[in-house]
This record gives sequence, C-alpha cells and structure tokens, in this order.
Amino acid sequence: MQLKTILNRVQKHSSFVYSGVRLLECDPVRLEVDIRSRVGSRPRCSGCGTQGPVYDTLSPRRFQFIPLWGILVFFVYAMRRVDCCRCGVTVEQVPWAEGKSPITTSYAWFLSGWAKRMSWKEVAESFRTSWDSVYRAVRLAVAWGLGHRDLGGIEAIGVDEVLWHRGHKYLTVVYQIDGHCRRLLWVGKERTTETLERFFRGFGLCRTLRLVYICSDMWKPYLNVIAHWAPRAVHVLDRYHIVAKLNKAIDEVRADEAKRMAEDGYQPILKNSRWSLLKNPENLTDVQSEKLADLLQYNLKTIRAYLLKEEFQLLWNYVSPAWAGKFLDRWCTKVMRSRIEPMKKMARTIRRHRELILNWFEAEGMISAGIVEGLNNKLKVTFRRAYGYKYFKTTETALYHTLGKLPEPKFTHRFF
Ligand SMILES: [Zn+2]
Repeated sequence: MQLKTILNRVQKHSSFVYSGVRLLECDPVRLEVDIRSRVGSRPRCSGCGTQGPVYDTLSPRRFQFIPLWGILVFFVYAMRRVDCCRCGVTVEQVPWAEGKSPITTSYAWFLSGWAKRMSWKEVAESFRTSWDSVYRAVRLAVAWGLGHRDLGGIEAIGVDEVLWHRGHKYLTVVYQIDGHCRRLLWVGKERTTETLERFFRGFGLCRTLRLVYICSDMWKPYLNVIAHWAPRAVHVLDRYHIVAKLNKAIDEVRADEAKRMAEDGYQPILKNSRWSLLKNPENLTDVQSEKLADLLQYNLKTIRAYLLKEEFQLLWNYVSPAWAGKFLDRWCTKVMRSRIEPMKKMARTIRRHRELILNWFEAEGMISAGIVEGLNNKLKVTFRRAYGYKYFKTTETALYHTLGKLPEPKFTHRFF
C-alpha cells in the first residue's frame, strides 16, 4: 500500500492531488509529500473565495502535517497567485491550511487536542515542534470555537476576580453557571467598572435581559455594573465569598490576639491554631480537633469570634428568605455588641449587603454553593500548568481553551 493511498483516505482534497512522497534522511527524519493542483483547476482567491485565473506561481512552501511513526511529515506545495477581479492579485486559498500558517489545520487541531491534556511545552516536546506552533494551534482552535459557540439560553452567570501574574494583577472572569452548562464565557483584564462593562457590551443587551441569576462577590465595581446592566436579574452574593471574608476576619482577630498575648508574657496557646479555626469542623485532622477542643476552654476573643462564625453558618439551613433575614439581623446585633472590631466590620458589611445575601434564598436550588469556586480551582490548575502565561493574550487563549467548552468542527477522520 502506498502512503498516497492512506493520505487520500484520511485527508482528500478535491482540487489537489498528492503527487510524490520522499523520505529525507536528516535529523530528525522527515517525510515530504508533494501536492499539486489538479490539471485545469482554477485557484481560489484568499480574499473573497471566488475562483480566478492564475497570475503566477510562488516558490514551494512547507506545511507541517501530523507526524507518522516518529517521522515528521510536511506537505510541500507551490502556492499560486490569483488575478482576482475583486481583490487584485492575491495568494490562493488552500484547504489544508489557513492564511500564512506553517502548520496544516489538521495538525493544529491535533496539537490543540493534546494541549488540553498536557502543558504547551510538553506538547511541543512530545511532537517535536515549537512552543509557538502549539500556541498558534490553540489560538486557531479558540478562534474557531468562539466564532461557532452558542450563547443562547444562558440564564445564570457568575462574575469573579482572580489573581494573576504571581498575585500582582487581577483578571475578571464571567462563567455560565446554569445546571446544564458550566463554562467560562469571558475573561478581561483587571477588575474595574470598565472591565465588567466590556463584558456586558459584548454579551449584548438582549442576552443580558434574559439573565435570571447573577452571582458575584462583594467587590463594589461589580455590584454597581450588575445593578446598572441587569436590574431585573436576581443578584446573589456567593456564599463561598461571604464565608471566605468571615474567615479573614477571624484570622485577623487571632493574629492580633496571639501577638498581644506574647507581648504580655502569656503561654502561646494560639500557636498553630490557624487551621483548627478556619477549616470546617468536619474536615479537621485529629490533631487539629484536639487543638480546637483545648482552645474552646479559654475565654479568648478568637474563640468568641470562632463561635460567631459557626453560628453564622446556620444561616444556610434556612429556606424562607424572611426567616433567614431575621436570623441575619439577630446575628449582626450580637456581633455589634461583641467588641471584636474585625467581626463588627464584617457585620456592617453584611448589613450593607443584606438584600443581596438574602437573594441566595430567592434563588434556592438554582445556584449551588461552590460552583464559582470549583471553576476557579480549574482555572488555577491552568495557570499552574503554564509558567509562561506572561501576556494577557496568551492567558486568555489558554483559559478559553481549557474552560470554555468550545465547539470543534466535525472531521471525517480523527487522528487520535
Ligand atoms: Zn478576491
């Protein structure tokens, strides 16, 4: 069986033929497959797609194809130029590659498929190609996917900020969090009013008006933009963010108290207590549980703050927004009398956002706790896999690629 037969089986082009195959004994070994246009066929203009007469023929170009048995494979073809009646003289359009790309479209989809499973560097090393080729392949897949994705029927979105660039900069991410589809919809630089407005402008007024639930944290610019753009949607404050803020307050109380006790010469009983206080009781290790039981005997500010947090968690058991509201008010009053400043600050924040917190109960069943957190964790895995994502464009491409659930074209032959 000839290689040409296999190529015609996996990738056939109607106006072009595989004319010859050469094995080149260089390092690494490579196969070159000559392609020529079918006799009498007219080239297609890359500008408008119509066929026209040949103007001239350029020198042969190489397009990398999917490697075979550890041998690199290249298509070699001399591009023709078209004398197009609309666009003037342009280079022809070929079915196996796009624009000036040195890799074939099949190879690009092949690489981008592997890039979902491994880091770009690993893909490049595995298939003996460059990091740039992998990036180019992923970019092509993402561009195609974004152009073909369906944004209809989106009812619930989650907006969040994530740290990027070793924690120096922020990105704003918008997820679809509907029960049937959870994916990254959009990513933007920084976390300003302007950032989120850019998302809504791109998303469009019609789709925004159809949103039923929007979930976010308490970041002020987000709250303002959401209130302005989607006043009819139920805006829910994410439970995960509220608990995270409470934990931060407890941490502050603990650090402060531990420092004061050390200064006053007391035994360092708060030492190594951080995780005993911050983790959910059911997730504690034996040692942490013991530490917590030990601490609970003392009348410390830290312990009182801890007990207030545990009490606050009862909020999520409520079903009726009205009763949840009563509980929340009682809790805030109690905290305001506690004389623990970081907790009082938290109570004031909660009072300020009372309505949005209670929307959690309005959206009962629609938004489960931790969806946004779960998606954020996947996002962090993507960050960790690529030390290289120095530029926003690269990061954006990688995130859409791994979290966007982007569609892919239907192929007649799958290479892996
Ligand atoms: Zn044209």
